[in-house]
Formats: sequence, C-alpha cells, structure tokens
Amino acid sequence: MEWLIDKAKLRLLQGDITDQYVDAIVNTANSSLMGGGGVDGAIHRRGGPTILRECKRIRSYDWPEGLPTGKAVITSGGRLKARSVIHTVGPVWHGGGKDEARLLSDAYRNSLELAIKKGLKRISFPSISTGTYGYPMIDAARTALGTVKEFLEKKDSMEEVNFVLFTESDLRTYEEIAIALFGKPR
Ligand code: ADP
Repeated sequence: MEWLIDKAKLRLLQGDITDQYVDAIVNTANSSLMGGGGVDGAIHRRGGPTILRECKRIRSYDWPEGLPTGKAVITSGGRLKARSVIHTVGPVWHGGGKDEARLLSDAYRNSLELAIKKGLKRISFPSISTGTYGYPMIDAARTALGTVKEFLEKKDSMEEVNFVLFTESDLRTYEEIAIALFGKPR
C-alpha cells in the first residue's frame, strides 16, 4: 500500500530489508554497534565487513560508551544494494512506562534527520524494537507511522519512506494503523 504525505511517498511492503535498493536502510542496532541478531545480523552478513569496521570507528571516536537509545549514526552500505546504512537503537519494551514511545519516536526521527543531513531521499525502515526488544507490534506501528507522518508534514526534502515488514501479519498490522492515520491508500 502507498500514500502521499505532502510530496513524499510512504509505502508499506513485505520483505527483507537487506534487499532494498534505496539511499539508506535503517538498522535495528544495539548500543554496542557491534552487530547482533535479527535485522542487525542480516545487514552485517550481507553487507560484509566494511560496515562493522566503520561502526567500530564510530564507537571509538564518537560514542565510546555506546550509542544511546533513540540516537542514529550512518555508515556506508558495504556490499548491500542500499548506498548507506543508518544505525539506530530502539528501546527495549518494559511494559510501556519507561518512556518507550518517546524513545521509539526519537529513533525514527533521528534516522530521518540524519538522512536529510546527508542528502539521502529514499529510506527504508524495518519495524524497530518489535523483535528481540519485545515492543508490541500495534503500539510500535502507531508510533512509527505517526512519527514519520509528522516528520514528512514538516520537512519536504524526503522523497520516499518505506516500511519493510518481515511477515504478512506484521504488514497487516501496519496497514490497519496506516489506514486509520492517513486514510485510504492511493
Ligand atoms: P529489535 O532488536 O529492535 O527488536 P530485531 O531486528 O530483532 O530488532 O527485529 C525488528 C523487527 O524486524 C522484527 O519485527 C523482526 O521480525 C523484523 N525482521 C527481522 N529480520 C528482518 C529482515 N531481514 N528484514 C526486515 N525485517 C526483519
């Protein structure tokens, strides 16, 4: 499904984020930036060792204590089709009372800000925090889509924002929330 928000396309797709041919894909990193499972594992596996090398450099120069939750950094895409990878850390779900929604929103917003700062116009997100970090899919979809909508209404240099959902059921959840927030798709 696809919507037009201001001048930008917002699309919901099912698939593997590492197949995306865009300016930047977003990684569900952890604060160590040293790789992990889920999306993180898939990106480093397919992107090759240069991404990890760049992550190590970022750790030692910019974030010696680790990347805080909600922040974002950028590396090249290595052998991926995507030109760059934006690494962000989503919040671990603790039941909803630990500022999770604000931190998840920060992860999306800071990733988009960084993309714009680097002149990147087409970006693909996975569903941040809904794997290992345990965030309920419905709540995550509401925050993810609401944050992107608000961002696209304010800034007009982004051309395309894709959400790449891993399973059919995750895609359906995002679609339901998107219809509620944006109305009928194009
Ligand atoms: P987190 O640690 O932020 O929870 P995960 O990478 O464990 O991140 O999972 C985030 C979401 O991405 C989950 O909903 C998971 O099903 C999905 N996912 C896992 N691998 C991929 C992939 N290769 N492409 C797209 N989505 C993926």
